[in-house]
Amino acid sequence: MSSAANHFKPLALELCALSKTFKLGGGMLHKSQTLTAVNNVSLRVPRGQVMGLVGESGCGKSTLAKILLGLTPPSEGDVLINGKAIVNANQKALARHIQPIFQDPYSSLNPRQRIAQIVGLPLRIHGIGTQKEQAAKVDEMLELVGLPKRAAQQYPGQMSGGQRQRVAIARALIMRPDLVICDEPTSALDVSVQAQILNLLLDLKDEFGLTYLFISHDLAVVEHLADRLAVMYLGKIVEEGTREQIFTAPRHPYTQALLASALTPEPGLGVPDIGLGAGQPDPTRPPSGCAFHPRCPIAQPQCSEQSPKLTDLIQSAAQGTTQPNHPRVACHFA
Ligand code: SF4
Repeated sequence: MSSAANHFKPLALELCALSKTFKLGGGMLHKSQTLTAVNNVSLRVPRGQVMGLVGESGCGKSTLAKILLGLTPPSEGDVLINGKAIVNANQKALARHIQPIFQDPYSSLNPRQRIAQIVGLPLRIHGIGTQKEQAAKVDEMLELVGLPKRAAQQYPGQMSGGQRQRVAIARALIMRPDLVICDEPTSALDVSVQAQILNLLLDLKDEFGLTYLFISHDLAVVEHLADRLAVMYLGKIVEEGTREQIFTAPRHPYTQALLASALTPEPGLGVPDIGLGAGQPDPTRPPSGCAFHPRCPIAQPQCSEQSPKLTDLIQSAAQGTTQPNHPRVACHFA
């Protein structure tokens, strides 16, 4: 698809200046602290695309997912699904549009229910179809995710990790949601099974025209299926662009370090010390200016004073020319 066509696709998901702060501790002797887990995040995901969201643990990815799933309200900002604000919608209404697929399918599946009950649960909750129609839909979904018919009568404990994740996918997709939040869906699986599940997710996306927000610390996984990527650091998006832009010419020093860490023998264990100096700062006391400056190999004095805005690179360089799909980067010297 051309980048221009891409730009004008309708949006499935739009985050508008979304923030989430938490008050920690406090009492007679101690002042409470404020943790800004998500900090003024704006993001647009066109329908039918996969947006990869990457960053170290604690960067705010999971809080963002919880806001989208209605598990915690944002402190500020809006979330639009297909152009409609959902911030005050109840969880049941949200579940028709947004479904999650989590890292550990075992803990998200009721061990005492048969697979047919688990996969059909969303249909029962929303009162969709007769019992017979629901059973037929469950059979259809199980077949689509590559499980045999007899799986319907099994319990989660009788299945392998990969089969359980197929069940979780069937349950998430049976309502044909607009958006699927995939939160590290393959990181608990063997490498050989990971590829099968990723390919299944891609096939189902094409078949149903789904949109995925794919959260991962593993860049190799994201490279396999994301159309676009957003990189988060301490609650903010520091770079966003197409897969090609991010993987072939990363502009932000943090993205460059993440890509370098993915090339080490143990990818995904956080950013290694490749000229980054200090470790991750305390998120309750984020550094001044650019929050990455204590770790940044090219930091200048300006960096500790001024916070860089997430800026459309080419637009800012070409002063007013507007072309779609430019990378956006939050760095004074990108
Ligand atoms: Fe590094 Fe400065 Fe850019 Fe931040 S603004 S990433 S500290 S060069």
